[in-house]
Amino acid sequence: MDFNAHFKATLDTLKDEGNYRIFAEVERQCGSFPKVKHFNGDDVSEVTVWCSNDYLGMGHHPDVVDAMVQTVQNCGAGAGGTRNISGNNNLHRLLEEELADLHGKEAATLFTSGYVSNWAALSMLGAKIPNAVILSDEGNHASMIEGIRHSRADKVIWKHNDWRDLDRKLKAVGDRPKIVAFESVYSMDGDICPMREIVEVAEAHGALTYLDEVHAVGMYGPRGGGISEERGLAHRIDLIEGTLGKAFGVVGGYITGTAAMCDFVRSFASGFIFTTALPPAVAAAATASIRHLKQSDVERQAQRDRVAKLRARLDARGIPHMASDSHIIPVMIGDPVKCKMLSDILMQDWGVYVQPINYPTVPKGTERLRITPGPLHSDADIDHLVEALASLWKQCAIAHAVA
Ligand SMILES: *Cc1c(COP(=O)(O)O)cnc(C)c1O
Repeated sequence: MDFNAHFKATLDTLKDEGNYRIFAEVERQCGSFPKVKHFNGDDVSEVTVWCSNDYLGMGHHPDVVDAMVQTVQNCGAGAGGTRNISGNNNLHRLLEEELADLHGKEAATLFTSGYVSNWAALSMLGAKIPNAVILSDEGNHASMIEGIRHSRADKVIWKHNDWRDLDRKLKAVGDRPKIVAFESVYSMDGDICPMREIVEVAEAHGALTYLDEVHAVGMYGPRGGGISEERGLAHRIDLIEGTLGKAFGVVGGYITGTAAMCDFVRSFASGFIFTTALPPAVAAAATASIRHLKQSDVERQAQRDRVAKLRARLDARGIPHMASDSHIIPVMIGDPVKCKMLSDILMQDWGVYVQPINYPTVPKGTERLRITPGPLHSDADIDHLVEALASLWKQCAIAHAVA
């Protein structure tokens, strides 16, 4: 086989469809976020990021940066091994205690990313609970889908956020161990699940609940414990999974739950066992970030204010965006080529960076610009973004309808 010819032909198809991904190259400048340097060939310009998952700017917070720098100086760069073989640092344990406390759980287990935590925990639970069935919301993230697939457990997909459908499907499964897997904030539409109803349905059927709070930790609840904290439901959810890479601004993933469950995952999950532990400096920085957001509401309040302001300004200019109760503002374009083109013009002509979101991240025909306002966006930043979008809307005559 001519492997390279195959690679190129497949990529050409992707390009023809408008789904080929081009990464914008940026350099985050400590202290000036959300302004970043954008590299375009030899050209370097300053642009404003409107699509960051560092939702609260914690990646630049002095406490977080200081913790990381000091720990690198004290402990060096890497962990030096897996958790089992010489890489287990006391900073990992402190971080796990911080996380268990964040969600009011007995224990936590760290992973190298949120993706790995979902993949490893779901694949292990599905494989190691005899005769288990995993009931998965149809909107679940790729990391959950891959974990479930890898577990080889039976899988039942329930309609997105539809607890009545979940109820019917749980009933149909009958007397087997059941795991209900879902998210709190769905990151592409920004919608929030009906958590109380889902939890009550799962409880009625004796199912284990597995909740991905990746887009909510740090941002919702009085201490940043997520939607489950905000709604007083954390104690009724068996496993809460999260990331250290989004609102906490660092990198890493975790699960929290009973001591026995975390020990079970720690002892059997391949994606936990056979990989180098997170650098101690990462653990220290994440701990500092979580601690800060447990006692400071300033960032959350400011973010909420920015989100409300941008939504109101978009409404005033007739720019359609999907309604939701979260911090995520999707502006629907519905075409991959147009979506990419708009994003390119925003970057080149307006110094506004919003990455186009195309298939397979979202279904074909629902391509969008996904905007994530943060506490560090100024009024002037918002004015400029709205001005840019309004001007493009006029030029491109995109249908003024929300998909
Ligand atoms: C980003 C994301 C993850 C993965 O988290 P990382 O720490 O970035 O690997 C998991 N679940 C959801 C819903 C996500 O959006």
